[in-house]
Amino acid sequence: MYPSKLPGQGASIFTVMSALSNHHKAINLSQGFPEFNPDPALVDCVDRAMRNGQNQYSPMAGQPNLRGVLADRQNRWGRAFSIDPDKHITIVPGATAGLYSIFQALVLSGDEVILFDPSYDCYAPSIQLAGGVPVRLSLNADGSYPFESLKQHINPKTKMVVVNTPHNPLGLVFGQSDWTALSEILANTDIIVLSDEVYEHMVFDAAQHISVLQVPALADRAVAVSSFGKTFHATGWKLGYITAPEYLTNEIRKVYQFLAFAANTPMQIAAADFLTNHPLYEQSVSVLMQQKRNRFAAALKSSRFRLLPCEGAYFQIVDYSAISDMQDQAFAVHLIETIGVAAIPVSAFYQQPPQTQRWLRFCFAKNDDTLDKSAALLCQL
Ligand code: PMP
Ligand code: GLN
Repeated sequence: MYPSKLPGQGASIFTVMSALSNHHKAINLSQGFPEFNPDPALVDCVDRAMRNGQNQYSPMAGQPNLRGVLADRQNRWGRAFSIDPDKHITIVPGATAGLYSIFQALVLSGDEVILFDPSYDCYAPSIQLAGGVPVRLSLNADGSYPFESLKQHINPKTKMVVVNTPHNPLGLVFGQSDWTALSEILANTDIIVLSDEVYEHMVFDAAQHISVLQVPALADRAVAVSSFGKTFHATGWKLGYITAPEYLTNEIRKVYQFLAFAANTPMQIAAADFLTNHPLYEQSVSVLMQQKRNRFAAALKSSRFRLLPCEGAYFQIVDYSAISDMQDQAFAVHLIETIGVAAIPVSAFYQQPPQTQRWLRFCFAKNDDTLDKSAALLCQL
């Protein structure tokens, strides 16, 4: 057997559930991706860029126009320091590659990185591949952050704490009081805060996205990760960006130049053009996704699923304990095979899944008729 760098690691839960869903021709609410297309004006911008011959390498850090637009926007939204497109923003081929570069660049052998479970699937393996040690603390049963436990786990080896807001899979938004609590705990340390903010433009009701870069006590050791895959409904485009203070950006770029060197050019040019012409585009994303969330929730009202609150991102968690006591992996397979609806078992996001938790995650970034059809099937249970 080959001496694996990731022994025990199989295909990701998203690969597994989407494959099973396709095999059974189920409605795929498992892997998170929109069923609808990006704005046609954005697609036109890509077409134009390609036809205009913008098909060769971009500068390593990304197209200057795009970094400029992103810096302007972040400064408009408010940041604890003024974002400079040359010093602070790096365009990458998707958040996953961005996260990988960050861990490779900033985590040294033996460093501990604190994750809050349930946590997105790429963090722990990417940390391990950088020689780091993921330290996984579970969220409290009521969905609050385990700040007491965090305090106890901080030690001289702790290099980084990873936050994900809005949260995949739970749809939680890290609020002002959470940032304050985290700031107090990290006050006399130089621990880096990596904030995965790929769903930053999907926040609902009274919830507000607060970036780590807006928190004065943390911004000078913060790294924020964004994804156009989410913001443009174009997960297959694999385009994102990292925003960080200059000393961290320099280290991240040292690694990133050898991971990919640069992200694809026509999409970068297109993103810059489109955002320039649509200064308020991002606001439309929350509006759209909130409608989707509401529609799916309303259609499930007569079901026996209990819906957990969803403040952001495009996932609805349901508790199915009134329907079955099966483990969630088995129940997710059962749903595909019996009613033809695919979901993600939430246990996949834990190192030690809570044994009695009976939760599934449904992606609601789908066309209305898909949401209606799948909810009607789920109501039969
Ligand atoms: N972080 C989280 C929390 C995600 O849900 C995703 C989306 N799959 C990513 C990172 C990766 O984003 P990208 O598709 O841009 O690589
Ligand atoms: N982020 C997506 C999800 O949570 C999946 C992306 C992937 O398949 N790697 O469903």
